Amino acid sequence: MKLQQVSDNCFAVLNERNRMFDANSGLVNRGGGVVVDTQPDLHHARRMIELFGRVWPGMPKRVVNTHEDGDHVWGNQLFAGAEIIAHRSVPGGMRDAADPRPFRELLRDADRLMPRLLLATRHPGALAAARQIREDFDFDGIEPTPPTTLFDERHVLDLDGLEVHLIHVGPCQQRGDTIVHVPEERVVFAGDAVFRQCAPMRWSGTYEEWLATLDLIVWLDPDVIVPGHGPLCGIEGAMEMKAYLEYVREEARRFFDRGLTSLEASRRIDFGPYASWRCAGRVYVNVECAYREFRNDPRDAAWDRTKTFDAIYSVAKARRIDAEF
Ligand SMILES: [Zn+2]
Repeated sequence: MKLQQVSDNCFAVLNERNRMFDANSGLVNRGGGVVVDTQPDLHHARRMIELFGRVWPGMPKRVVNTHEDGDHVWGNQLFAGAEIIAHRSVPGGMRDAADPRPFRELLRDADRLMPRLLLATRHPGALAAARQIREDFDFDGIEPTPPTTLFDERHVLDLDGLEVHLIHVGPCQQRGDTIVHVPEERVVFAGDAVFRQCAPMRWSGTYEEWLATLDLIVWLDPDVIVPGHGPLCGIEGAMEMKAYLEYVREEARRFFDRGLTSLEASRRIDFGPYASWRCAGRVYVNVECAYREFRNDPRDAAWDRTKTFDAIYSVAKARRIDAEF
């Protein structure tokens, strides 16, 4: 984890392994300060506070959650008394997406002999995911802490004359997706609208909605984008994300038309220029999303997390690449 200054008043804390839960955080260090996203567990949240503490005068009184996923909200409880701001859909979304109990159970099962043997035979992907998560994260002590201030389309903060614009762009990859734009400093904290140098994860929204969000980010023309996952970039990061999504959707269509399942398609798809991205097996969720759209499935059709881990694992094994989640 490292601290990086991105403009006069904007900073980022970056999780460099760039796998599942390795979310970045941001800070606008002015007018009492605003933290953008609070990390995936208490250990990482405390480290983030320590790193930002090198530059801020005191704990910020405001936090923004860019969406409802646990890796962006599980440090909220460490900001006691702060105003926590998010899109109106986030508290409801957090009840499912940011419930730490299923992850705790998965890690516990992976630690105990009999449940581990069962996982190994029935859900090898879930077991591999648990082992990976265990290397870096620990969900003990997390008490999901919902936002206290909700907004609908836009919300503007005035930090001693520096405007910070919160723009709801969801559903993009989640329902509550919000980007944080600091126009005067030409910075966008993109949340998970931008994954950088890793295959994106997604649970909601359509391709068109995500592509439109990326167009908006390019149109805002920031000098620096702080992605939800991965290293800092300029607008080329948003353009590359867009190219990836368009490429995967197009490839998925060819397999769909030939009658292959989304899993078979994911095992065969040519990774093209994205072969070096981390967690390449996560292409499965993007192919499956495309299939859901081709079939006109209901918008919010549920995901089975265990099956998703198994599918990603099976894609990685078939491709002889690292099984990363
Ligand atoms: Zn994330």
